[in-house]
Amino acid sequence: MIDQRRLVKTFKQLVTIDSLSLKEGAIMRFLKKELAGLGWRAAFTGRPAGGEVGSLVFLVPGFKSKGPRLLLNAHVDTVVPGKGIKPIEKGGYITSDGSTILGADNKAGVAVILEILRIIKEKKLSHPPLQVLFTVAEEIGLVGAAALPPSAVKADFGLVLDGGEIDKVVCRAPNQYNFVARVYGRAAHAGIHPEEGINAIKAASAAIAKMKLGRIDQETTANIGMIHGGVATNIIPDEVEIRGEARSHRLAKVKKQIGQMEKTLQNECRRHGAVCKIRFARIYESFNIAETSPLMEKAIAGMKASGIRPKIAGTGGGSDANIFNALGVPSLIIGVGADNVHTTKERLAVRDLVRGAEIVLSIIKEFNRD
Ligand code: CA
Repeated sequence: MIDQRRLVKTFKQLVTIDSLSLKEGAIMRFLKKELAGLGWRAAFTGRPAGGEVGSLVFLVPGFKSKGPRLLLNAHVDTVVPGKGIKPIEKGGYITSDGSTILGADNKAGVAVILEILRIIKEKKLSHPPLQVLFTVAEEIGLVGAAALPPSAVKADFGLVLDGGEIDKVVCRAPNQYNFVARVYGRAAHAGIHPEEGINAIKAASAAIAKMKLGRIDQETTANIGMIHGGVATNIIPDEVEIRGEARSHRLAKVKKQIGQMEKTLQNECRRHGAVCKIRFARIYESFNIAETSPLMEKAIAGMKASGIRPKIAGTGGGSDANIFNALGVPSLIIGVGADNVHTTKERLAVRDLVRGAEIVLSIIKEFNRD
């Protein structure tokens, strides 16, 4: 039923429009126009700070169906290097020319939603009411979804199209906390008055060396990802900035982990005579959708009807699904076939793109109610 040629064409068109996070103006103008051509008036909402545009949202009334309202979401932004993407189709795969990412994460999701909107209209398919939401700035920490006014997300269940294997349903994701720590020491000439200095880099390093990082347990991870400080080899550094994160599927565990990281920093700084100031931010909340929930039941049934045996999985990453779940809309993540994402070797199998669209359409049908 899916029009393969049209879907591939749309996908290629989408990836050639640059849309780095917060720079989604051009792609959103394109989408708004495409949607207008289909008769849908989409509106912008929730522009994040520093962003060109907000997310694009509209309602599609149910057709011959009284099913619950279903949110269809895909983020439109891509990671770097993502400017001037040239899609190349060869041997059943679409890749970039090797100098950029492809942007199948997540233009494949966007293309699939457009194709579904076209097909349900053309073939007059019965479908439940849909809320279509194209989000911005997902890749930089769900900034676009987080900027949405909560009232803008109005659905009973959600399908978030993003990323990998098309037979995968992600129903669990962790909590994440980020922190920025500034360690303050005292500057002094490293050769003449080293006794007068307090080395902020040394204090910070001592703390980091004592931290438990990496995989803490099956559902908890922690990382120090950035460290910046110092100005010259002959100056004892008086300031260093550390950025880190912790994630866990359990809130108590992530809080404990973050607490330990903070305590280690404070203790080591005190021991070195330095001062540490830490700012925390909860980036997103975890979710866990039971296999027996109506949403999972319908997703599994839709995949099976499409000839797929679903792989039910959790993820260690966050996505817009975390935000929708926190807003009270139970939402799953469905893969769209993107492979080697966030690298210049990213690729998309044409077969997966088409199958992915069929699967999503099949899941939507499961929500139909007379
Ligand atoms: Ca993504």
